[in-house]
Amino acid sequence: MVKLYLKPGKEESLKRFHPWIFSGAIAHFDGEPEEGEIVEVYTSKKEFIAQGHFQIGSIAVRVLSFKPDPINLDFWKKRLAVAYDLRKSIGVADNPDNNTYRLVHGEGDSLPGLIIDVYAKTAVMQAHSAGMHMDRMDIAKALTEVMDGVIENIYYKSETTLPYKADLAPENGFLLGGSSDNIAVENGLKFHVDWLKGQKTGFFVDQRENRALLEKYSRNRSVLNMFCYTGGFSFYAMRGGAKLVHSVDSSAKAIDLTNKNVELNFPGDPRHEAYAEDAFKYLDRMGDQYDLIILDPPAFAKHKDALRNALQGYRKLNAKAFEKIKPGGILFTFSCSQVVTKEQFRTAIFTAAAISGRNVRILHQLTQPADHPVNIYHPEGEYLKGLVLYVE
Ligand code: SAH
Repeated sequence: MVKLYLKPGKEESLKRFHPWIFSGAIAHFDGEPEEGEIVEVYTSKKEFIAQGHFQIGSIAVRVLSFKPDPINLDFWKKRLAVAYDLRKSIGVADNPDNNTYRLVHGEGDSLPGLIIDVYAKTAVMQAHSAGMHMDRMDIAKALTEVMDGVIENIYYKSETTLPYKADLAPENGFLLGGSSDNIAVENGLKFHVDWLKGQKTGFFVDQRENRALLEKYSRNRSVLNMFCYTGGFSFYAMRGGAKLVHSVDSSAKAIDLTNKNVELNFPGDPRHEAYAEDAFKYLDRMGDQYDLIILDPPAFAKHKDALRNALQGYRKLNAKAFEKIKPGGILFTFSCSQVVTKEQFRTAIFTAAAISGRNVRILHQLTQPADHPVNIYHPEGEYLKGLVLYVE
């Protein structure tokens, strides 16, 4: 196995179990690693400190283990078994009311570069690193064994998530089974998952608890679900007794999915309407009929250099909602940009509120659910931020 030696002092973050090694920390290699290969990492004093997937780029190694034991089928099985056990203990797996959850959340499950979402009998697996792509067959095999009797299909979906420079030519497709039965259940509500063409793995699994909270605020309210994608928040609002629910997304395909999902849960219910329109245009032209608004935009900043524009985007978007929401209204507002901190997001919302001049109180501060755990040694894993606000 190729050995990698760090520059003096560069082992400090690894001693604190941070799972990334940046390319600048590397002194030299003993051998020539291929992209995606597992390398052993040594300090400048030639002591073993970690092993992980090598990749060309700023993050050169994603650590799989701080021990020298082999990374084989048994290793993947152990990690996946821990992940599955965690989901059972938080009540999202093995639950007749819920068969939708994230089984593996990258660094949060000590598997950097790997995402696995479960939708009923299908697991959708996504590699974000060359190494996870190379090891996909072993991981699929381990998953089949660990979740025997639960998972019958594994769909691999990494065409858009792998570094294109690595030239891995990943192909989306089934690694196990091939069922097209795509209805899953979240907190007792049904929805179609389009893992073939949908965004991410097909559904935003990370809003489960926030949707459940929204349901409690929905009785007799007029709801605007902005950036609705597959309509997740909308059908919770309907179950919660909303007077009307309007779902908006700029993607016509998202609107089709939303309509299908509403039909699946509330066939023929006249309270729901969906519009394919740009958010800013809709917010400009709409009246002041809404007293519950959800703003769950896509990540405005994917990289640090886009941060300023992103914060401005959050300010502008939220200012419009503050301007138009009915007195006594509730605003659920989110940011899923990893580079935007909780404080920065809160400041952006503060500024938007101040522009409107209205009295605003923070009712809840939201984050990602427990099936998207944050590795305590990798605080960067905390990405979802939300505020629930009462607007006087
Ligand atoms: N709230 C959703 C997830 C939102 S993802 C859920 O609970 O599942 C972000 C969505 O914003 C995507 O569906 C994308 O199509 C949509 N979007 C992106 N830019 C937009 C814009 N300018 N106006 C309206 N929708 C937009």
